[in-house]
Amino acid sequence: MRETLVVGAGIAGLVVARELVLQGHRVRVLEAEPRAGGQLLQKTIAGIPLDAGAEAFATRGGTVRAYLERLGLADRVVAPLDAPAWLHARTGTTVPLPAVSLLGIPSAPLAEDVVAVVGRKAAWRGMTDALLPGPVGAKSTTLGELVRRRMGDGILERLVAPVVEGIHSKHPDDLPVSVAPGLVHHLLRENSLARAVARLRTDAPAGSLVAGLDGGMGMLVDTLLAELDRYGVPIEYGVRVAEVHADRVVLAVDPDAAGAPARTDADEDVEPEGEIREGLVVVAAPGLVTPADGRAATRTATHLMTLVIEAGTDTARALAENPRGTGVLVARGTDVTARALTHVSAKWAWVREAAAGREVVRLSYESAPTAETARRDAELLLGVSIPETAVVATEATTWLRAGRFEAAPGIPITGEQVSGTGLASVIDHAHRLAEIIGPPAPEAEADSRTDPEASTERTAS
Ligand SMILES: Cc1cc2nc3c(=O)[nH]c(=O)nc-3n(C[C@H](O)[C@H](O)[C@H](O)COP(=O)(O)OP(=O)(O)OC[C@H]3O[C@@H](n4cnc5c(N)ncnc54)[C@H](O)[C@@H]3O)c2cc1C
Repeated sequence: MRETLVVGAGIAGLVVARELVLQGHRVRVLEAEPRAGGQLLQKTIAGIPLDAGAEAFATRGGTVRAYLERLGLADRVVAPLDAPAWLHARTGTTVPLPAVSLLGIPSAPLAEDVVAVVGRKAAWRGMTDALLPGPVGAKSTTLGELVRRRMGDGILERLVAPVVEGIHSKHPDDLPVSVAPGLVHHLLRENSLARAVARLRTDAPAGSLVAGLDGGMGMLVDTLLAELDRYGVPIEYGVRVAEVHADRVVLAVDPDAAGAPARTDADEDVEPEGEIREGLVVVAAPGLVTPADGRAATRTATHLMTLVIEAGTDTARALAENPRGTGVLVARGTDVTARALTHVSAKWAWVREAAAGREVVRLSYESAPTAETARRDAELLLGVSIPETAVVATEATTWLRAGRFEAAPGIPITGEQVSGTGLASVIDHAHRLAEIIGPPAPEAEADSRTDPEASTERTAS
């Protein structure tokens, strides 16, 4: 039987590999980095194991929970602290986000917690949503357009944009309405965006929109790797694919490897031709497939800075006694350069336990901060003094992510570039792709019987 080559061992690649092997494929995974997991990564900071990438999953639709159940991880699913995050508003004040909202879209525009953020005039404009017919704004292509048409600029810019930017690192005008699945459907049923939000929030399991794993999301990677190992799926690390075709991939040559041809400056943009592997190709790696519109996919950086605060200090006590919910999102144009802060040891009980009295906060940025900038931002966002001496560890992590695009038809592709960001979308898409691919074609088996070379590796001349 010919091999099925899965390119990329991020969560999409691991899920699609598992599902394909269960369907009878002979699977091999090729991964550029020396480790699996992609944007799921656990780092130990000051002895505390922490998620350095994704730390939670959306509970909507129950997709991830169902998947975790199948992997035997159901009893590890945990809810975060049940308290709304806060918002550092344009006015420079930091206030709790409206209790019942979705991506910042309020379910009651005139509620006091909404007025506190956007002001009374913008809140009244938000109320026009209730008077407009359901179809108004329903055909919007972006989330920004939808909210602006129904609730006005004030609610969009002062409330929704900071929340959305904190989560997706993009303005709502640059995100499709599908980032809030079901929202337009409920808008049309309820004739109001606010009521659509209320409906979606009521439907969320146990009121929480996200959940995590006791011990961290890194556990999902470990579990999938153990499963693939059990099924005998080889994962080759440090193998970067340069080119993909429906039935083969071309590997990038490591320019430093012994025997690699000498390269000149003129070669700079030319991918060197390398080894070719043959088999059905499934892509789960960013940047490898040409977008349908021919434009190169954009890459954006997210910089994280994690601070660990010493146990027993005034700062640790103040943070433990008065957490600002699970953390603070930041509106643009304020005195803080961070986009968001997660109070990790308040949000997750398992981190609190592992931290043994220390407090852990994680700030995210668009450009790399110094540890000093992060410390000062944390002081402003959390409203406590954090002297340098109270910070026992800092850790910087940078993530480069390829933007979403419509892939040209031909090669099966999965992963956040096509499914949208977030584990719920990524896992669901990878799962469905494996179902669409189905069991290995009988012709492929016949091919491999008549052509013994069909699944062997060869080196390009
Ligand atoms: C800081 C941060 C926080 C996040 N928080 C959350 C969260 O709380 N909840 C949530 O749901 N989502 C979150 N996300 C998003 C979520 O992590 C991603 O949407 C998801 O992990 C993407 O998985 P993926 O497999 O599509 O891509 P990736 O994880 O990027 O995996 C792609 C893999 O392909 C490999 N690869 C790339 N190019 C090649 C090549 N040429 N050849 C071979 N291999 C290659 C890469 O090395 C990588 O291992 C967060 C992301 C970041 C960065």
